[in-house]
Amino acid sequence: MKNKILEIKNITKNYHNQNGEIKAIENITFDINEGEFIAIVGPSGCGKSTLLSILANLTQKSSGEIINKNNLKIGYMLQQDSLFPWRNILNNCLIGLEINKNLTEENKQYTINLLKTYGLIDFINKYPDDLSGGMRQRVALIRTLAIKPDILLLDEAFSALDSQTRIAVRDDVYNIIKKEKKTAIMVTHDIEEAISMADKIIVLTKRPASINKIYNINFKNEKNPLKKRLSSEFNDYYNMIWKDLDVKL
Ligand code: ADP
Ligand code: MG
Repeated sequence: MKNKILEIKNITKNYHNQNGEIKAIENITFDINEGEFIAIVGPSGCGKSTLLSILANLTQKSSGEIINKNNLKIGYMLQQDSLFPWRNILNNCLIGLEINKNLTEENKQYTINLLKTYGLIDFINKYPDDLSGGMRQRVALIRTLAIKPDILLLDEAFSALDSQTRIAVRDDVYNIIKKEKKTAIMVTHDIEEAISMADKIIVLTKRPASINKIYNINFKNEKNPLKKRLSSEFNDYYNMIWKDLDVKL
């Protein structure tokens, strides 16, 4: 029996500005189970980032309900790695703990251990500009993990990377999330990224975003994102989702 940890019920969002009202999200409902990796895809500008920032509690919803009955902690990883160039790698990773006033020696050690486990220990005194795009992305993930979130939100987290690096980092981040047994919700406009990483894909309509379809993604043999792309099921999912998005564009 899967353990439901977050219930999203009838979420609606209208933005107001000088030109009037923009309806960004219309009546979105879905559940998130523990340990699940959910990808959200949809046309550009449909309301994906809005949905994620509502889940992160950074944007207020117009109506609806989010039930987080165990009060689980949510971590948010943004599109650009948004590391501070004047802080070294360790201090970049500690910033969430600082903001939460939770920078204990134990939490600092936990963060250092994450950096060690994920091959960044030799870089803790370096600065973001000294690192490759892929490494910076890994630092951004560790910074998000440092606050020990139960649920990770990733918004187009790989879109700034070149395609070669992107594939490698995707694999990397996927393995880290699975190893740390996190629940993840990833927004992407990249169908391949969604299929190769997620257990479930939610396809949104054009703005205002509502749910078009939900796919459960099952690969018989492959667990690794890189290998999934080469297996026969991949194309079937790709074609179905491509059609969903195309029709609604
Ligand atoms: P996506 O991430 O799918 O590309 P967004 O959630 O960023 O889409 O935006 C959805 C719509 O809401 C867009 O039309 C965008 O212009 C509008 N929007 C986003 N943020 C704001 C805001 N702070 N104020 C007004 N409109 C906004
Ligand atoms: Mg966006």
